[in-house]
Amino acid sequence: MKYFIKTFGCQMNVADSERISGWYQQKGWQEAGEVSEADEVIINSCSVRQSAENRVYGLVNNLSKLKRKPKIILTGCMLRLPKRVLIKKLPAVDEFRPIKDFYSGFPLRKDKNHAWIPISNGCNNFCTYCVVPYARGKEISRPLEEIVCEVEELVNRGYKEITLLGQNVNSYGKDLKNFQFSIDNFHSIPQLLNFQTKYETPFAILLEVLHQIEGVGKISFITSNPWDLNDEIIEAISLPKIDRNLHLPVQSGDDEILKKMNRKYTKKKYLDLVKKIKKKIPEIKISTDIIVGFPGETEEQFMESVKLAKKVGFDKAYIAIYSPREGTAAFKLKDNISFREKKKRWKILDELINHNRTF
Ligand code: SF4
Repeated sequence: MKYFIKTFGCQMNVADSERISGWYQQKGWQEAGEVSEADEVIINSCSVRQSAENRVYGLVNNLSKLKRKPKIILTGCMLRLPKRVLIKKLPAVDEFRPIKDFYSGFPLRKDKNHAWIPISNGCNNFCTYCVVPYARGKEISRPLEEIVCEVEELVNRGYKEITLLGQNVNSYGKDLKNFQFSIDNFHSIPQLLNFQTKYETPFAILLEVLHQIEGVGKISFITSNPWDLNDEIIEAISLPKIDRNLHLPVQSGDDEILKKMNRKYTKKKYLDLVKKIKKKIPEIKISTDIIVGFPGETEEQFMESVKLAKKVGFDKAYIAIYSPREGTAAFKLKDNISFREKKKRWKILDELINHNRTF
């Protein structure tokens, strides 16, 4: 029997698809080279933008027309939609399965040098434009010893680089009861026998522990949000094996828009944080996410994002044109910026940050 996985969206979905693959392989299934050879097609969906959902509708439609129609399974973020809506919109889908159903599988990784490692799933932050807290639920962290054992096992198999994944890695472990106790548990791993941490922040401790493992060459992580990137985490990031590329989403440079987005910082706080990080790690390169055309964003407010980008000197930016997502708080706000204007703002920031050009 053969399976085929189609993945949409972020690196978290890529990592989840590796688990789906492992889950099928454990059952003795093989991965199909072509979708037409598959007995089951698993669509790991993304809900962040309407365009991502539209691509799923298109794919399901095409699959339903195949001569030998495979069983179609939909998983991932689109399962945030009520089942009756999904059934109505996607009648050709045979099964809607929560991603957690596949988590018992050991991930099957194609890359043999670098591994994506989810450290938490879900988000408690409810930025007003974002569907993730509805799609993935509240933040649940993996136990520290489980992550450490996975990394140790990967190193034994020759992996050199890891990227830790979480919607907000800084809050990793805050939901774990008796976090200190779980640290005691992994003293059974020989090379960590004498490990003692100077930190209290779980994510800083995690970075410190993983840094200690011989054979780990480079540790990266996404995503780190500005409001809880504290001094301990900054100190842990300065450890030599930690990646010098830091992704720090700002979303807007205007305080009023940030408030409307329910981002828990001001422009000044963001700039102060960047200053502090650069002081501690002068070689750091900072990338970011920015949304243009959020409801009510005036020309002046947009220019605050431009000014902030100039001040920080971002290495790279993922600039998104705002698109309203049903079910989010911002959906109730009037999407009053024309697409043309949004596109114009997008281009200005893209040229400035990603191509080093100004208009
Ligand atoms: S931190 Fe905000 S933008 Fe990121 S996943 Fe959570 S709600 Fe979405």
